[in-house]
Amino acid sequence: MSRIIDNNQSSLSSDKITKITLSKILLLAWQPFFLLIISEIILQLVSIMISFYIKEIFDAAVTGNTDILIAKAPLFIILVCGIFPFNTWLSYIRAMFVKKSSTILKQRYLKRVFNKNINEFQSSGIAGYINDITNNANTLEERYFQQMTVVIMSVTAFFGSLAIIISINWQTLIFVVPCLGIILFSMYKTGNLLKKPEQKKASYLEEYTRYAKESLSAFRIVKSFQLEKRIIRDFNQRSKNVQDKGYEIEKRATYLQAMNQFISGAVVLFCLLIGVRAVTAGTVSIGVLFVLIIAVSNLIHPILMLSEVLPPIRSVEPIFEKMEQHLKNQQVQKIKKPYPGLEQQISLTNVSFDYPDIPVLKNANAKFKKGGKYLIIGPSGSGKSTILRLLRKYFNPDHGQIMIDDSQLNEIDTDSYYQKLSNIEQNIFIFDDTIRNNITLFQNVSEEKLKSVITAAGLDNLLNSRTNGLDDILINNGAELSGGEKARIAIARGLLAEADIMLLDEPFASLDDETAQKIEQKLLQLSNITILNVSHVVFNTTKNLYDDILLVKNGQIYTKSEK
Ligand code: ADP
Ligand code: MG
Repeated sequence: MSRIIDNNQSSLSSDKITKITLSKILLLAWQPFFLLIISEIILQLVSIMISFYIKEIFDAAVTGNTDILIAKAPLFIILVCGIFPFNTWLSYIRAMFVKKSSTILKQRYLKRVFNKNINEFQSSGIAGYINDITNNANTLEERYFQQMTVVIMSVTAFFGSLAIIISINWQTLIFVVPCLGIILFSMYKTGNLLKKPEQKKASYLEEYTRYAKESLSAFRIVKSFQLEKRIIRDFNQRSKNVQDKGYEIEKRATYLQAMNQFISGAVVLFCLLIGVRAVTAGTVSIGVLFVLIIAVSNLIHPILMLSEVLPPIRSVEPIFEKMEQHLKNQQVQKIKKPYPGLEQQISLTNVSFDYPDIPVLKNANAKFKKGGKYLIIGPSGSGKSTILRLLRKYFNPDHGQIMIDDSQLNEIDTDSYYQKLSNIEQNIFIFDDTIRNNITLFQNVSEEKLKSVITAAGLDNLLNSRTNGLDDILINNGAELSGGEKARIAIARGLLAEADIMLLDEPFASLDDETAQKIEQKLLQLSNITILNVSHVVFNTTKNLYDDILLVKNGQIYTKSEK
């Protein structure tokens, strides 16, 4: 309420730092990332040593050389046994890497959401962000970070096997390299087959989430107008779109895998035939042939793995780009003047403002003097809340000027302005925390001051009814509080903020008349603070305490004398 989280100034710098690609997230999780690479390399080095031992032990067994057998056996056994715990360690590191990178992705997303300009955040709707941080973040975890561990494993295994082949019998490469070329070419060609359906699936999923959120938000209306059937039908259609695309992707992926496996089987068989001929001709030993066949299939296997994981990895890039697009502020703000506090007056001069296709203000004028108390009234939809939104810098006027003393409001730095702006809005957010923290909004406040604010806001009764008083925990956006109690918390927040401008948007709507008037009187007694109170109720007892009453109607703002 009192401090809105938005800072146009920092959105400038944040957009500069955060233009990144998905691969940079890997570098942000650099510790497990490099640990994983190093561990995979160690595994390959051990595998190379084991291959050499296998070759020698095999040849020794064939020639009946027991001395070599006995000499080589112990170290061979130790290495082979060591592989098992090492693989467990690798699984652990892989999981750690996935967890870390996924956490970084989500944390970074949330941080940037709070860097959005308020107007841009509101115009794009909340469901898109929820979809990003749930569905899309999970897709990225499954299809990018997890698959990335397969890429690291495959690449190191490929080079490990290549090293074995080169050192044992490099001529084998003459047959193997062209076959690899064929496999890589088919991989490249088929990779694109999955990209389009993946993109389509992501957009269906977003639509599905959006619809789910909207239809559940409208729960009461759906029930009371018996719209369940219609909602469920639309829901099923959206769900089916997602499932169908998922099925199409699976089908294509299975086909691609089968084809790649066939090609690799053919390559191994081909090498085996040539190898057997070479053994018969006496050019290579059986041990060499044995190790080479293993190495060739270990060379092809990683390539196949890559052919399975690269398409999903490539296909999620657009999802990440879309997430980035959601986070980007279209209007990048210039560095602004810090707000020194209100000296004389706030003025609106010929202010016009339209929402898309909805004209609201047309050449409206008003003046609010420092320390003045103003009541703003007018028919529903006339633009009262919009005036407050303009003063809160959610939007800029289309024409005309809003001045704070001698400065234009849109040239004033938002952070420092919000520090002196107290906001009491209709939608009151209650944190899952103590009543105390909900009032102080986690700032340090003296007990004395807190007490006086609680009394002024009429919260004493609520606190007395609570077993733990101020330390009682509120949950679920204050579900157990009445609208009036929530409004009082908001008013207490507003009173605590050391503000010089207080904007109230129908704060008393959910209070009984008596309480409303009491609180209103308290507020109007505050000196040194300029108060703009939008209200549809005017009490005879309080109306004379205002310096002026303004009427908003037909796009204009009239003062009492003009009405
Ligand atoms: P009041 O507070 O006087 O009831 P508002 O200032 O909230 O009225 O709204 C003025 C007009 O602008 C209304 O017609 C309302 O429907 C429309 N409006 C308000 N907010 C938006 C918005 N975010 N997008 C489009 N139209 C809006
Ligand atoms: Mg309103």
